[in-house]
Amino acid sequence: MFLRYAQVVFDNVVFARGFKSGWGFAAIIRGYSKTILFDTGSVGDTLLSNMLTLNVSPSEIDAVFISHTHDDHMGGLFAFLRANHRIEVFLPEDVSIGTVVAIDEAGAIPTVLGSGGEIIPGMATTGIVGKNPREQGLVLAGDGAATLITGCAHPGLGKLVDAAGKQFDLPVKLVIGGLHLGQSSRRKILALTRQLKELGVEQLAPSHCTGEASTQILAEVFGDGFIDSGLGRRIQLV
Ligand SMILES: [Zn+2]
Ligand SMILES: [Zn+2]
Repeated sequence: MFLRYAQVVFDNVVFARGFKSGWGFAAIIRGYSKTILFDTGSVGDTLLSNMLTLNVSPSEIDAVFISHTHDDHMGGLFAFLRANHRIEVFLPEDVSIGTVVAIDEAGAIPTVLGSGGEIIPGMATTGIVGKNPREQGLVLAGDGAATLITGCAHPGLGKLVDAAGKQFDLPVKLVIGGLHLGQSSRRKILALTRQLKELGVEQLAPSHCTGEASTQILAEVFGDGFIDSGLGRRIQLV
């Protein structure tokens, strides 16, 4: 039994049987004062079906955190709000006004985030990093270290880890999520790995848009610190 964990509930990379896969990413974060749904995947019915498989009722979720506005991370949001609208939705600052209004009309509380900072005890946003799309990561404070959850890491994982480390002044030891390395050369991935290790990252649980070849290289380099992730995987937080 993990005290604090993330469980992947939407992914195109499949870890466990019995779930419906789809392009995108979503994870449930447990063990803090509030239970968070990080991103929503692209299809709401798939997300809700996977939650049902895990015996997690939508009513157990207290807040949704959206990393960036791409459809494969936000597409399931309104279906989720139809199942539970008594929540706060944390959004990146380039979200459209129409979406903010629609969330409000659905009965939920939209909160648009720009700079970094704690949003729930022990949980912070990295703040918005990069452009087109702007993206934020979720930082989870642990024992002497932190975990970073990413959607696609479009701005570059190094930049997100750097911003994450400043939130609680804790080194980011574990990274979970999409790393968007599909087209990267081996040299580029090795350079990223060096940067991550210098920043204190010891464990990596990539999935979604990381890319198969890139995931293989990360597995080699991280060795015991590599966590085979994907749909259905439950990962203990630091
Ligand atoms: Zn994306
Ligand atoms: Zn994505």
